[in-house]
Amino acid sequence: MLEITPNETNGKIDRTGKESGRLLVLSNRAPIRIISEGGRRRIEPTVGGVGATFLRLLERHGGVWIAWSGSKTAPAPLRMPPDEPRFSMVFPPLTERDISFYYYGMCNRGLWPLMHLMPQNCHFRVQHWNNYKAVNELFAKVTDAHASDEDRVWIQDFHLALVPALLRRHRPTLPSGLFWHVPFPPESFFRIFPWRRELLEGMLGADLIGFHTAAYADHFVECCAKICGAAVDRAAGLVRWQGRTVRVRGFPLGIPADYFAQMAQSDRVQARVRRIKAALGAVTMVLGVDRLDYTKGILERVEGFERFLELNPAYHKRVTLVQIAVPSRTKVDDYARLKRQLDELVGRVVGRFSSEGWVPIRYLYTQFGAEELVAYYHAADVALLTPLRDGMNLVAKEYIASQSADHGVLILSEFAGAAEELKEALLVNPYDMDAIAASLKQALTMSPVERAARMSALRRRVHSNNLEHWSRTFLGVLDHGELAPYAAGVD
Ligand code: UDP
Repeated sequence: MLEITPNETNGKIDRTGKESGRLLVLSNRAPIRIISEGGRRRIEPTVGGVGATFLRLLERHGGVWIAWSGSKTAPAPLRMPPDEPRFSMVFPPLTERDISFYYYGMCNRGLWPLMHLMPQNCHFRVQHWNNYKAVNELFAKVTDAHASDEDRVWIQDFHLALVPALLRRHRPTLPSGLFWHVPFPPESFFRIFPWRRELLEGMLGADLIGFHTAAYADHFVECCAKICGAAVDRAAGLVRWQGRTVRVRGFPLGIPADYFAQMAQSDRVQARVRRIKAALGAVTMVLGVDRLDYTKGILERVEGFERFLELNPAYHKRVTLVQIAVPSRTKVDDYARLKRQLDELVGRVVGRFSSEGWVPIRYLYTQFGAEELVAYYHAADVALLTPLRDGMNLVAKEYIASQSADHGVLILSEFAGAAEELKEALLVNPYDMDAIAASLKQALTMSPVERAARMSALRRRVHSNNLEHWSRTFLGVLDHGELAPYAAGVD
């Protein structure tokens, strides 16, 4: 493994001898795990479409990925891919206090619930905020040390919201884009954040700020106008700030749709589908897939399913809800409490309705790999995805891409970012148990013709607005200031 030094190049070299066109990607975590075995280090990519896309982009453009390693130790920089290096990975060192205050404190217990409009889960502490600022400053300094003047910087998510302005102080002309992977709340709600103006000013250091939906972008622009007093053009998504113009737009995140579609057709996945169906017996399968997070509305969903069973005895023994709940942030109190509540609730519904040979809910508290997950997507007759609030909800798109036979029905929360695009889904208010019950009835009685019409329209959209399209469009606007020709004409 090679050490990298600041400004080491692996991008193009132009006539003046400077590198150009490289990309610097910043994110809280890197999409790899470094495993130490007997004094040797092995690199394993983590599962997840977005991470894989950035790895591909960096291989194409060259550059540097700057991210926390995920542990208290900061490994030496890596050259990637190890056998044919095209870019570097650099790991700013975070202390135990940083991990506790910046990551668990400000990010997980402050900004996450704030952005998802969950005031009851918001914990705002000044020492967490101060530490968040310090970690953002560290990321900005590391970026400054590795950037050359022709590079551009793509910052990911709310963990690093202050980096754009901090970086601009060091490097006023370096182009930077910030993509916000969570919702952005309306101005009236965002005001509860004690450091609201500082956060916005930090973000406004970027040249381009992307959100999943036009609605989140509108909320942000409104905050800039009302809280910072910035001049804005709401229709064009422009904010005038400190003599610069910041572009603000919706760029709905897509998935690698072909990858899911092909995997769903593979022999291995089809064999798993048969196993899953055989284990369930002759029942209709309703599927929920989420990280176990209070934003995902899992308790409300199970209560909606209970309501459906109360109202529709004819469906007893004929429908099973399979709920995959991925363990998440288990060290945070609110998450541990949610786990206890869900265990109890599932136990109550199973105890109340189970009868010989039929269990109404199968609750799988685990994280599946891609093939097993795609097998569940393919096997499910209905996907019931009802987050209370969700930036996008990629699971909805993955379910659609895995439905080759146009058989399934998607029931989707109207408060998921994906609902702005996926209009042919059955959209439902996740807080309304009777509405969830009614959507389930509608899905289960829907004619095959209507199911196919809805699913094929959804599939077309998921394939055209895919992950590649998302990254090209964002970089196109960052580089050229407006939509590049390849981004035009999309469904
Ligand atoms: N996922 C997974 N294994 C599982 C369940 C989910 O790898 O057992 C992945 C899924 O493929 C998806 C991601 O977790 O890409 C969840 O993304 P989403 O946007 O739906 O929600 P998030 O967890 O990011 O809030």
